[in-house]
Amino acid sequence: MTTLAETHQSTASPFAETIRRFTAEKVIPRNHELDQHPQDMGLIRELLLEAGRLGLYGAVIPEEYGGTGPNSLALHEGIEELGYGNAGLAMSLMPTYLLARAVALHGSADQKTRWLVPIAEGSSIGSWAVTEPHAGSDVASITTKAERTANGWRLNGRKMFITNATIADCLLVLARTGGPGIRETLTTFVIPMDLPGISVPRAIEKMGLRSSPTCELVLDDVEVPDSDRLGPVGHGWQIGMDVLDYERLAIPAIAAGMCTRALELSTKYAADRTAFGKPLDKHGPVQGMLADIACGLLECRLLYRHIAGLVDAERPAIIDGSVGKLVGARLANAVSSLAVQVHGGYGYTREYEVERLYRDARLFTIGGGTSEIQQKIIAEHVGRAPGWGRRAALL
Ligand SMILES: Cc1cc2nc3c(=O)[nH]c(=O)nc-3n(C[C@H](O)[C@H](O)[C@H](O)COP(=O)(O)OP(=O)(O)OC[C@H]3O[C@@H](n4cnc5c(N)ncnc54)[C@H](O)[C@@H]3O)c2cc1C
Repeated sequence: MTTLAETHQSTASPFAETIRRFTAEKVIPRNHELDQHPQDMGLIRELLLEAGRLGLYGAVIPEEYGGTGPNSLALHEGIEELGYGNAGLAMSLMPTYLLARAVALHGSADQKTRWLVPIAEGSSIGSWAVTEPHAGSDVASITTKAERTANGWRLNGRKMFITNATIADCLLVLARTGGPGIRETLTTFVIPMDLPGISVPRAIEKMGLRSSPTCELVLDDVEVPDSDRLGPVGHGWQIGMDVLDYERLAIPAIAAGMCTRALELSTKYAADRTAFGKPLDKHGPVQGMLADIACGLLECRLLYRHIAGLVDAERPAIIDGSVGKLVGARLANAVSSLAVQVHGGYGYTREYEVERLYRDARLFTIGGGTSEIQQKIIAEHVGRAPGWGRRAALL
């Protein structure tokens, strides 16, 4: 007979189990070190490469280039597991698999061999450079320029908040090759990080997600052959749009991992600590907080699994993806705040892990397209998709 304890044992896929073990053995024991600034770039790079060797990038790479073939659900189950242990490392996976997905969808055979094979085998890390000091949400106003030369292109500009730039081997850059705006004026390049003229003046000190390096990046007369252009001239915006479904999906997946951790820490603390003669978890208001944390966890997990299903079925996911990003970000913030509250004064100290969860979650309403931009996308698209409400979440 199956006991109740057994029914609550892991039902994770074998791949998610592998990432769970890696997270438990290699990541969680290093969490204190990983939360420092300046960060230990060598340690972060080593852990991200090991995650790659376990298959976390291969899930966006076709088999002929060493991957396991695109599988959004498997990838995000793995990301949830890493998010459970360390949200910063989970966020730092993203530029690599976004770059890989862009190359898989739009690259030449040479580009696929050059970039996808080392990423799939876990020997290369990517960076994704769109944002600039004066252009974040408003991508159409980027000014980094790519000018034609006799042999290819010359890149000049300054990028801001670039994840992994200090530890990356390859870089995807969005640059202006035409006049103002986004249509047919932006072009994407994938280039090695060690080209002359590329520099990373600093890794920025952040409130949270410290295991994810966030950097300024300068492109100063960087000479790039035309063979490093990804896709046609003027298709940069479209290439970004083609891969952003994965970026939005990562947030509810990481949030599901963080909520799981918050639930475990909070239920244990509330059972162990006594106030007014009984354990905290026998007080109605504390029970309410624990219940809300459990609700947040389930919502995040259902959301990312639903959206991954849409992506894997190659069905439109633009509205659902933005809903997932918006709601996942809100829930990660709300749940981590509740977890701090359950822990009382101790939750506000560096000695308890919920404090880091709270700082880490704060980025989710900002990075990868702010919550306000997700609201804008949702509002514009539901207006153009009559009947979406009737069909939503009915695969
Ligand atoms: C830790 C971290 C990692 C990052 N990693 C990367 C990376 O790897 N690569 C990369 O290219 N970028 C990266 N970014 C940049 C990130 O994508 C931008 O910070 C984000 O898109 C917001 O841009 P911004 O910071 O310029 O804010 P702004 O665009 O200036 O926005 C400021 C405020 O105004 C609001 N706002 C702006 N426009 C509108 C509008 N039209 N309607 C309603 N509200 C609006 C925003 O929602 C926000 O609240 C990262 C950022 C951080 C903090």
